[in-house]
Order: sequence, then C-alpha cells, then structure tokens
Amino acid sequence: MTQFEYKDNELYVEKVPLSRIAESTGTPVYVYSETALTDAYQRFTGALADAGLDARVCYAMKANSNLAVIRTLAVCGAGADVVSGGELARALAAGVNPAEIVFSGVGKTEDEIRQAVTANIGQFNIESLPELDMLSQVAHAAGTTVNIAVRVNPDVDADTHHKISTGRQQDKFGIDIGHTRDVYRRAAALPGILPTAIAVHIGSQLTDLSPFREAFTRVAELVAELRTDGHSITTLDLGGGLGIDYGHHTAPDLRDYAEIVAETLGGLGCMLVFEPGRYLAGPAGVLLAKIIYVKDSETRSFAIVDAAMNDLVRPAMYEAHHEIMPVRDPDDGAPPRKYDIVGPICETGDTFGTERPLPEVGAGDLIVIRDAGAYGAVMASSYNSRPLIAEVLVRGDKFSMVRSRQDIATILAQESFADWQT
Ligand SMILES: *Cc1c(COP(=O)(O)O)cnc(C)c1O
Repeated sequence: MTQFEYKDNELYVEKVPLSRIAESTGTPVYVYSETALTDAYQRFTGALADAGLDARVCYAMKANSNLAVIRTLAVCGAGADVVSGGELARALAAGVNPAEIVFSGVGKTEDEIRQAVTANIGQFNIESLPELDMLSQVAHAAGTTVNIAVRVNPDVDADTHHKISTGRQQDKFGIDIGHTRDVYRRAAALPGILPTAIAVHIGSQLTDLSPFREAFTRVAELVAELRTDGHSITTLDLGGGLGIDYGHHTAPDLRDYAEIVAETLGGLGCMLVFEPGRYLAGPAGVLLAKIIYVKDSETRSFAIVDAAMNDLVRPAMYEAHHEIMPVRDPDDGAPPRKYDIVGPICETGDTFGTERPLPEVGAGDLIVIRDAGAYGAVMASSYNSRPLIAEVLVRGDKFSMVRSRQDIATILAQESFADWQT
C-alpha cells in the first residue's frame, strides 16, 4: 500500500495534496510519508517474526539520515547502523539507544572509534586486522570492553549494479571468509575486545534472493567452525540489501527472504541483526519538482525541471530508473505524450528519465520522482552552487519541514579569500 495516491486527479501524500506542500515550501523538495516508513518497518519485522526469528533491526542510516526519519524509526523500535562519526552523532541526537547502534565501515578513523567507544555503542563491525588493533587500543585505554562482529566477505556476487556490490573477493569490504578463524583467534586474545558476532553485507538493491542464500549458508558453516574453535557466537548481523520495486516489478518477496534466513541460520540459537536501509526509506519518499520550461526539438520533448542530479544523483550515478508522475493528472482520455525529464545542470547525465509518458505538461506544472526516499537527499551536493533542498515529513493531514532549504549566503559565508587576496 503506497501513501502516494491520486484523489480527484490530484496526487496526495497521505492526506496532503502535494501541490499544497509545493506552495508552502517551494520546489524542489523531498517529501517523506511517516506512515510509509512505519508500515515498511512493521512489514519487515512482521515477516521476520512470522518466520520465527529472534531479530533486531538497526536501520542503515546512510539511506536517509534526516533526524526526523531516524526518530520515526527509532520510535518504532529500530536501532541504527552508522558508518561515520557524523552518523553516530545524528543517531544519538535522534534518540537512538546507544546499545542498539552498530558501527560499520572499512575506514573508521581513530577519532570516530573513540567517539563510538565513549558513546558505549552496542557493536563494532570490524573489517580489517589493523582496525581490530586500533579498536583494541582505544577500548583498552578507555578501560572498557567492546562487542565486535567480524565482517566477512563471503565471495558471493550479489548480481546488482557493480557500484553497489560489496561481497565479492575483489571488493574492498570485509575480511576473506577463509581468514576469519585466524582473525577471531587474534580478537579473542586482544584486550578490550569481546568477539561474539559475525557480520555480512553483500550489496544493495538485490532483486534475486539466491546470493543471500549462498552468503548465509557460508556464514552458517563459519559459525560451526568458530564454535569448534571454542568461540561463543551469539549474534549474526546479516546486513541490508533487500531490493525494492523501482517500477520494473522485480522486487523480491519479503517472506521468501525471511524464509531463507530461517532455513540457513534459524537453528543456530543466535540473535539476528538486520540493517535495512533502502527497503524502509526508499518507497517512503518522493522528490517533488516543478517544470521550468518545455522545449521541443525535432525528435524529443524535454521537460526541464528545477530539480537536478545534485539533488538526486541515482540516475546519473547508477543508471537508476525512477518512476515519474504528474501531480495533476487530468485523466481526460487524451493520449499521454512522451517527455525527457531533465535538470538544468550542464551534463547530459542530468536526466531523470527519457521518453516518459506524461499528460501534456507546461511550465509551472509539478511532477514527482518516486521512490527517492533512500540514497536521495543524503547523496545531494551543491554542485553548480545549487543549495541543498528542503525536506518535509508528512503524517496524515499534517506536514512539517524537517530540513530547511540551504541558502546561498550560508554557502558563501563558509568560504573566504586567501590571506594575500584583498
Ligand atoms: C549500505 C549498507 C546497508 C544498507 O543497505 P540497503 O541496501 O540500503 O538495505 C546495510 N549494511 C551495511 C554494512 C551497508 O553498508
């Protein structure tokens, strides 16, 4: 059930017409449905519970780290998966319980590790031996002991876009699964370190579930080996990666996913941690934009909108497909026309969709780019000196700006001339 539906030819988010948000905040703007976020969370945890799994969700904040979005999921009971000191600060500011924070990432700096040790977070996911040594030093010096998972690289091809595949041997992530027993032995001997978990995350936007089965089967074998070696493995962190339907109807079934987890890892007596990002946030958000001009060429009609690749980079970066819908759909029986929906930036990659059917549109008309709640606002830049755009959260018939639009004066104020310039 989507929270973005037409009523009387007008596109609504929950009970609010998107045109009203555009009027109030201007465009372009990201709009998130709180109900869509909480529904996705309930569906995800519900499917795991139905499969009989003892599970905890640590929301992968990198998908959408707006404080209001994190707060929404934390209120549902989610912890957080963070990948930087900045994200850790956001999780704490949003009220996430530190014990339910997992710190992932291949390049945690000493400062970031110290920050997380001080915050007393629940788990560190270790991706290399030097990182393990660094964490041991910091934890020991702080007089504390921290829980770690060793993130393994199971050498499984996730069969997704190559830029978001993370579980192949040539990828920079994790520790070769064949070396895990050595790393565990070393971890058990280090001061300040309590190795109790294994983590795995093989990529993002997986639409085929078989790579999950392959990876989880390898993890199950590893658990048996580590237990033989005398380690107590109590927690398995299975990462995120579940794909969503961007309009091609290829999204995997959540129940099948839960079933695969239950079959491969359900009998091991471990607590399971899941780190969904895209699944929770992606379908809950749209990018609302306004058409500036329609330009007809010999072969194409271009709808030039006020959003651009700096606001939503997924099409330019991953050749990603997003559905595009008109905010006002006259539904008058007239055949749709085909438009290339493009932004104002001078790069041909600044294209949100080609030959997309839309009703006849003109300057001033609003469109939405769907499923933009994950890896949208968080990946935005101010390329072309375009200030970061606003974000709005909707609940029922209410909406609230949860990030204000950056202004150019703020951007300029952060810069200065060199000492020798006048
Ligand atoms: C990116 C990432 C996730 C979230 O991935 P999604 O595809 O958004 O679910 C989870 N865990 C780790 C370690 C990640 O890097």
